Amino acid sequence: MTSTSLAACCLLALLATAPTVRASNALDRFDAAVADGLPRTIVLGDTHGARGRDAPGDVLTIAAALDVDVRFTDGVPARLYTGTWRGEPAVMTRSDHHMDITVTGRDGVTITGFTDDSSGSHQVAPPANPGPAQAPRASDAASRRHAGARPAMLAARSARASGTTNDLSYLAPAVVPPTVTFWIFLHDDTKGTSRQHINAGYVAWWIADMKRILPSYRLRVFYIDNRPGMTDLSYGNKETDMWRWTLAADAYAAQAKLVYQPGKSEYKFMLITKDLVAPSTVGLAWLGGDQAMVSLKGSYNTVAHEFGHTFGGVHEDSAVWWSYVWPCETNLYPTDYALLSNCYRYTAANEARIRTYLTRGGDGPQPLDPASSAMTLVD
Ligand SMILES: [Zn+2]
Repeated sequence: MTSTSLAACCLLALLATAPTVRASNALDRFDAAVADGLPRTIVLGDTHGARGRDAPGDVLTIAAALDVDVRFTDGVPARLYTGTWRGEPAVMTRSDHHMDITVTGRDGVTITGFTDDSSGSHQVAPPANPGPAQAPRASDAASRRHAGARPAMLAARSARASGTTNDLSYLAPAVVPPTVTFWIFLHDDTKGTSRQHINAGYVAWWIADMKRILPSYRLRVFYIDNRPGMTDLSYGNKETDMWRWTLAADAYAAQAKLVYQPGKSEYKFMLITKDLVAPSTVGLAWLGGDQAMVSLKGSYNTVAHEFGHTFGGVHEDSAVWWSYVWPCETNLYPTDYALLSNCYRYTAANEARIRTYLTRGGDGPQPLDPASSAMTLVD
């Protein structure tokens, strides 16, 4: 028995709620705790995150499984859990050979990860801020908005879709709750970045919050990579490339026979890139539409920001919360200078927009009627 496991054993004995687990590594301890029934508190020793003298230690409380469906690129499912890590609210993502703990706080998103081939943990550095020189998300949001009719070629989508036999088993509205599926395509140039850490930094805390906002919805996140025509898309030109991404996503939806029913079975498509999606731009989305692009050069709230736009969320309803747990900008705040921390939340007004979008009953944007709709591109 090593000194580390000895320490873990004795700490465990002091925790009234902790199960008696003697597994050899963090993942085994985590799995054993979940198998024993939640909530459970365990100690994950041998992590090297910086901690103050009075920090509560490497104590992980797994409170509950989160009812979301997340699948990584190889089709391996991930399970998400809520709880606390070192006393802070946390979201855990357990996938094949890997477990990440995501904590959002005053100092940003911190990720503590464990793999089954290492006895210790790993910490993930936040994305490098593009800085004022490269400009953030939008310094002049109003001037960056572009309204225009969708190209006529997009109308071909309806023709393609109608030429195929829809797989209605996907929907089964009588038994399946309303569903929103987030298709996240990882550009070929992101191959050097861990998929698990993209999820832990940009998505895990956000999808947990979306579940809070939309408790009656079934939320799914599917990561896709190595998809010719989609993950090898050239980018860098704001208007042109958003249209090309939109067309590619439409073609994917048609080929996969995805059923789209407003408010009942919706999907959103995001392309995640390594470099800025356009000059001075870390993210783009159609306001109330279904497609978005996000750069890994954007801060960890960028996915929340752009997906928020696709649900009709707007900068005008974002806020700086001076009296939140820490002073912060909400997810849809238009600048990304990192002068203030992020709240990792939407304002109540933008949450209301998200709910309204999904209950609009066909009165909102109509992605399946592209020829007549005007789309607004926002960043
Ligand atoms: Zn924006």
